Amino acid sequence: MTGRILDGKALASEIRAKVAVEAARIAKALGRPPGLAVVMVGENPASESYVRHKARSTIETGMASFEHKLPADTSQAHLLALIARLNADPAVDGLLVQLPLPAGIDSAEVLAAVDPAKDVDGFHPLNVGRLASDMPALVPCTPLGCILLAKKAHASFAGLEAVVLGRSKIVGKPLAQLLLRENATVTIAHSKTRDLPAVCRRADLLCVAIGKAEFVRGSWIKPGATVIDVGINRIVGADGKARFVGDVAFAEAVEVAGAITPVPGGVGPMTIACLLVNTLRAACARAKLPAPTI
Ligand code: NDP
Repeated sequence: MTGRILDGKALASEIRAKVAVEAARIAKALGRPPGLAVVMVGENPASESYVRHKARSTIETGMASFEHKLPADTSQAHLLALIARLNADPAVDGLLVQLPLPAGIDSAEVLAAVDPAKDVDGFHPLNVGRLASDMPALVPCTPLGCILLAKKAHASFAGLEAVVLGRSKIVGKPLAQLLLRENATVTIAHSKTRDLPAVCRRADLLCVAIGKAEFVRGSWIKPGATVIDVGINRIVGADGKARFVGDVAFAEAVEVAGAITPVPGGVGPMTIACLLVNTLRAACARAKLPAPTI
């Protein structure tokens, strides 16, 4: 048996097309395009690449992109002052601070300074609490992308055994909350979990976000299960060439799984697509317009 590939690139492209239609509707109602501001501090090649992609996708879907690149020695006070200005700027609907921030800046304090109504990354404590309390919230983009991909394999998650491997604030925990909200039976596993292979083998839906290249083996997967691989790990092969692999040993897993996301081309492209959707949601909520139907 070979698992069905859940194509995140294709789904993200469909979502971006819908975002463009909704962005035009919202721009007409607002008299200006919905706007996303991205703040980056310091020089980090991976972050710079993400920020470039975010800006390009924002502009391509008819929204306004505001990029703020600050030097690595920016003081926390200066960063907080910029966030306060962007919070107050009516042209900015969504605001995110690219992580990681340089050592010496308190990330928690910075994230808490973002207006929760503009917090399109969903990292503000108010949005975290609202998600946990089953209240409307801006939800982190990567977990949202995972849910949309998993929905390609399951009409409903009700009653499914879902295992989330990884408990980070940006992926594992919010993903577990979303799955619970969709009536899955959720187990969160982490580095202290005993007998991980046995825990993973229980899963009808296995979501892996640990940052360890090809850690989850084919033998850990229940035959026919859906596997969502969030990991992005750069490895250098025996030929000296660098490539990206997930947290799941794909070649083994695809032989056992019913459906599986590839790396690259699975969860990765969905994250930015969901960021665009969150920006539209924030714009509509702020202007009291009907929410986008994406
Ligand atoms: P973090 O490092 O914040 O969290 C990793 C989690 O994995 C922790 O909960 C940790 O457990 C757990 N873990 C680590 N090692 C093991 C192990 N050997 N066995 C079991 N659990 C383990 O990672 P992130 O959630 O930020 O990212 C995870 C992966 O997803 C990375 O590869 C990252 O690059 C990728 N990613 C991809 C995104 C995308 O857009 N596709 C977006 C965000 C992340 P503990 O808590 O016990 O330490």
